[in-house]
Amino acid sequence: MDFLFSEDERLLQESVREFARREIAPLAAEIDRTGVIPDRLILKMAEMGLMGISMPQGLGGAGMSTLCYAIALEEVAAACGSTSTLMAVNNSLACWPLNRYGTSFQKERFLMDLTSGKKLGAFALTEAAAGSDAAHIQTEARRVEDGFVLNGNKLFVSEGARAGVVIVFAVTDREKGHKGLTAFITENGMKGFRVGRSEKKMGIRGSDATEIILEDCFVPNEHLLGREGEGFKIAMETLDGGRISIAAQSVGLGRAAYEAALDYARNRQQFGRPLSDIQAIQFMLADCSTELDAARILTHRAATLKDEERRYAKESSMAKLYASEAANRIAYRAIQIHGGYGYTEEYPVERIYRDARVTTIYEGTSEMQRLTIAKELLRS
Ligand SMILES: Cc1cc2nc3c(=O)[nH]c(=O)nc-3n(C[C@H](O)[C@H](O)[C@H](O)COP(=O)(O)OP(=O)(O)OC[C@H]3O[C@@H](n4cnc5c(N)ncnc54)[C@H](O)[C@@H]3O)c2cc1C
Repeated sequence: MDFLFSEDERLLQESVREFARREIAPLAAEIDRTGVIPDRLILKMAEMGLMGISMPQGLGGAGMSTLCYAIALEEVAAACGSTSTLMAVNNSLACWPLNRYGTSFQKERFLMDLTSGKKLGAFALTEAAAGSDAAHIQTEARRVEDGFVLNGNKLFVSEGARAGVVIVFAVTDREKGHKGLTAFITENGMKGFRVGRSEKKMGIRGSDATEIILEDCFVPNEHLLGREGEGFKIAMETLDGGRISIAAQSVGLGRAAYEAALDYARNRQQFGRPLSDIQAIQFMLADCSTELDAARILTHRAATLKDEERRYAKESSMAKLYASEAANRIAYRAIQIHGGYGYTEEYPVERIYRDARVTTIYEGTSEMQRLTIAKELLRS
């Protein structure tokens, strides 16, 4: 692994950083308050290539590597947690499986809309009784002439209310256990597809997490993603890659908290000197910076392995586990360094602290990452 960026990677980092500081960061507090990411921002992100970074150029993507995707996502997350969730879901959880498993018809019909920002993508796996234990979903898909009829309720679907294209996982053969799951491409507006309640969340409030209700929803054969019975594999492969994006998001959130704390420590005076002259504060800053670098290196290693088409499940779990836990520690310290002011909406660390909290939960909790890492360690 090269610790120095190539010229292209450096230029990408600079341009996305500049874009995120100019176009996204000024909206972050408003997005958190209103719970809405403006459509015009999504379109600007699509123009920058951020809605399908690693997708082929022929399908409207930017044709870049997973490493470039991680670099760009860190910058967006440093500007706004909610916007980075929307970007991660679209890129990793919707575009990636469509490109990997979709037919030419499906890529033309659905993927192009997602890379161009015309529509948003979403991923519906979780249900009330099946979170970490995703193989035990209850949503059923019954075969009928020309397609399937879906019935069930999905929960916590990020961008579920706004998404035009939702990848839904359902049981086609209960007796086959996880091998009886199948992936379907559904569209908001299909008969029998309904958006239910939105969760009232602690953070990433601009990224709506909703219920999706499927009531006798007919899905034609052309909307089957991959083969019948391949759904669990598609979901797990998608999440293996998705974890790199949550790791990158965590690095971005952690960096924003650290930079805010560093700035505050330099400017706030107590006992006649800046906080940054106090060794207790310096130690917290040193720990933040060290953990950020470690998190970023783990993230870029996982991205590089994926780009080289080598095994990366253990490394993406390690990156997600470490980076998400580190982002939470860093956000905690950043508030501590701000003292009482850090606990108010006046400073961004309050929002970052709330936004970072979900990173140890979605796309597999820290406990599930440890299980994956241990399973891989004990394979041989
Ligand atoms: C904001 C947000 C957005 C989300 N977006 C999406 C989305 O777009 N699509 C989607 O499908 N899902 C989404 N989710 C769902 C998310 O992936 C699940 O919440 C997550 O996988 C955990 O499932 P659960 O909430 O049911 O917790 P549970 O599985 O009930 O876990 C509860 C606790 O028990 C622990 N635990 C469970 N099993 C084990 C075990 N075997 N060993 C050790 N510990 C265990 C967990 O680690 C956790 O601490 C989202 C969630 C949130 C909060």
